[in-house]
Amino acid sequence: MADKFDAILITKTDDGPRGALTRLDQSDLPEGDVLVAVSHSTVNYKDGLAITGRAPIARKLPMVGGIDLVGKVAASANDAFKPGDDVLVNGYGLSEQHWGGYAGYARLKPEWLVRKPQAFTPAQCMAIGTAGYTAMLCVLALESRGITPDRGTVLVTGAAGGVGSVAISLLAAKGYRVAASTGRLAETDYLTGLGAAEVIDRAEFSGPAKPLGKERFAAAIDSVGSTTLVNVISQISYGGAVAACGLAQGMDMPGFVAPFILRGVDLLGIDSVMAPMPKRLAAWARLASDIDPARLNSMTKTISLADVLEVAPEILAGQVRGRLVVDLARG
Ligand code: NDP
Repeated sequence: MADKFDAILITKTDDGPRGALTRLDQSDLPEGDVLVAVSHSTVNYKDGLAITGRAPIARKLPMVGGIDLVGKVAASANDAFKPGDDVLVNGYGLSEQHWGGYAGYARLKPEWLVRKPQAFTPAQCMAIGTAGYTAMLCVLALESRGITPDRGTVLVTGAAGGVGSVAISLLAAKGYRVAASTGRLAETDYLTGLGAAEVIDRAEFSGPAKPLGKERFAAAIDSVGSTTLVNVISQISYGGAVAACGLAQGMDMPGFVAPFILRGVDLLGIDSVMAPMPKRLAAWARLASDIDPARLNSMTKTISLADVLEVAPEILAGQVRGRLVVDLARG
């Protein structure tokens, strides 16, 4: 049948929820006013958690995975969108509460849709994806606290990962001096190619922290959490800020109030999933103007839908470099 398509469906197994490749029909899709023919998706850390069942991301089963998608409107019962419109979605509960982007088609609520920025191809939108859009939210948050390039070095943790790679390139493009913290020192050339001025072994930040360390950084973007985040906060200069968006090391935060009460450091929480639409539009507009397409290309690899099942455990093991684009048309 013409409206059959490939999908990664997360179902209940004896070992917990697991993603598997399957064929679906448009009639299988849940309710929604806008039908989108998905051309590309991506793989974020959270997708790895959902597909492997390592964390209970999918709140109901069966669930189509994929927290991001881009594609063309195929049918719309909503006046704001018409067939042929190019749209993308980041988060909004895709792969958690609503079927997501790992499928040839998705039925969606119109209020989740962002019009594809003209500056980007569909594949570039997913090279950015939630990881890149979150990196942009982090940069915007630091800017809102007055962190300008003249303040000093900005540290990016989880540097060779998705959020980290985009964060480095965005900061460098705006003239910030960027220090990249990584466990993969073999990726030093990759990180300096993205714009890092300095590469630091993440072991420096991974152990137990002191209440206050040397004031080394004006600000930081942290996608790692746990003792790394605490170490980073302890090394922020007076009046600086940390945008915290991730938990690749852990969800805990075994820390001290000293940096907040003695140095006035701001800890800025970043959420991409339920960020309101104006914030999303601002982030995508800034991505369109700031990101260097050559650097975006250098951090991106394209894979097929079936490949997602292989890379899901790899992203959780910190083995994926930069960003992955899932091309739904690739066999
Ligand atoms: P990636 O796996 O691409 O990047 C994570 C990076 O963290 C790894 O590449 C690695 O970088 C580093 N890392 C991994 N394990 C450890 C560890 N045990 N200790 C220290 N560093 C580690 O994932 P994403 O970039 O997609 O996501 C990063 C984090 O941000 C995730 O926790 C994700 O859930 C979160 N996130 C949150 C969002 C939000 O809305 N708040 C949105 C998007 C992501 P290296 O090898 O360079 O050390």
